[in-house]
Amino acid sequence: MPVVVTHTVRLLGDHGIPTVVSVHVANGLPGFTIVGQPDGSCRETRDRVRAAILSTDYAWPLERITVDIAPRPQRIPSSVDLAIAVGLLAATDQLARHLVEHIDFVGELGLDGTIRRVPGIVALVHDASQSTVVIPAVQHLTSPNWNQQSVPATSLTQVVDSLKTSQWPQAPSPIPVLAGTCPGLEQTRGNHNAIGALIIAATGRHHLCIHGPAGSGKTMLAQALPRIMPELTDQEYLDVQRVHSAAGLYETPGRDVPFRAPHHTSSAVAMLGGGSTVFRPGELSCAHHGVLLLDDIDEYAPTVLDSFRQPLTTGEIIISRAAGQVALPAKFLLVGTVRPCACGNAVTCRCSDNTKERFQRRVNNALVNRFELHVTTTPHGRTNHYRTVDVREQVSAASNLAFHRQGCLNADLTIEQLDQYAQLTNGSTELLQHALALGSITHRTVNTIRRVARTIADLRGQLDNTLSVDAVTAAFALHRNAMSNELTF
Ligand SMILES: [Zn+2]
Repeated sequence: MPVVVTHTVRLLGDHGIPTVVSVHVANGLPGFTIVGQPDGSCRETRDRVRAAILSTDYAWPLERITVDIAPRPQRIPSSVDLAIAVGLLAATDQLARHLVEHIDFVGELGLDGTIRRVPGIVALVHDASQSTVVIPAVQHLTSPNWNQQSVPATSLTQVVDSLKTSQWPQAPSPIPVLAGTCPGLEQTRGNHNAIGALIIAATGRHHLCIHGPAGSGKTMLAQALPRIMPELTDQEYLDVQRVHSAAGLYETPGRDVPFRAPHHTSSAVAMLGGGSTVFRPGELSCAHHGVLLLDDIDEYAPTVLDSFRQPLTTGEIIISRAAGQVALPAKFLLVGTVRPCACGNAVTCRCSDNTKERFQRRVNNALVNRFELHVTTTPHGRTNHYRTVDVREQVSAASNLAFHRQGCLNADLTIEQLDQYAQLTNGSTELLQHALALGSITHRTVNTIRRVARTIADLRGQLDNTLSVDAVTAAFALHRNAMSNELTF
């Protein structure tokens, strides 16, 4: 009896790997083996597939069944269940084999033959090798521009019937889009310089650190950031959907940039992603194209913060395990908040010198040199006149301007581009040389200041390739958390 071949896709990181399942049924001692897999992992798959086939009134052959999965996974994912089941039905002539050959089957089988959801459905459908992909009905996707067409499956019986009649059921309505719940600028109070810094951060994608006592609105300002950033483009939206679905977040994200605020007790694996076989994306990847907030940044474990250095530099996380190496995307805007003291308030503080010193040491170690902008908030502000929609438009206009000029946002300007688009006047050079001589900044900081100054100039409509002294002075003050003038755009 020849071999029946079916197609499926399995998840690795945020990508789908097209996979071929071959099923061979022949005379011999009844048994079920998956080539190259230990008994334990084999038994799990066999038990689900066997129960599903028997409980939907098909026959389980009392023969020798051999399944090969290529390329061979480290561990068999449950998403290949459906491909094995239909392959087996075709191999035992319960289903015509030409019906199953040019379709991708993705889904985990329940013992009663129902088809269950699997993580990473967006990547699985998008990276499938065949043009039709059968997916769990509960995970129905709207994919207008994709090459693949997904058809819904509720149970093994329905899949077999649909294959025989070529009639697939009506797709259920897609999973509702997760509405953005972040507050807008209207809810914030006072703190005009902090709002100015938010606008600069959103436009140029410069990492921002907000300092201030407890109750001065640091968190609320940070939460307003995704609302003033431009909506995701089609490609960015697809990237975000891929990562979120691979991370097991089943709500479809909206068009607003993602906002993630992981708790300070989160482990390095929860932040960076990992696992031994499928490499599940972590919080940093879930914030891809969006904002990652570390509230009270000194509370996070120093080892966890240390692991941020690579993604902050390269925009991706490389995870290496015995099963191989995977690169997960993680390009995000980092926002941190810092209290003046461990007790939250410097004015009413009664902490011992020791406590204060320990606190300061933790803050200094906490990625503080990675932030390009520093700003301080104060409590008791008045209501703001800012409107989120207007600010978002302003941010969109300035970031489009930068993108059309140099093909990237200002935070990504290379040194050659800085020399072209962010030239310094004699006055600015003098200012920075003086700070360099005093040792208060480094050469890397000078480039950072030029990038931020480029953004400030763009927002002010100063489109000259030479930066104004004003813009450089403001960027320098923001770097040192010493903004004294009103920062408005
Ligand atoms: Zn204190």
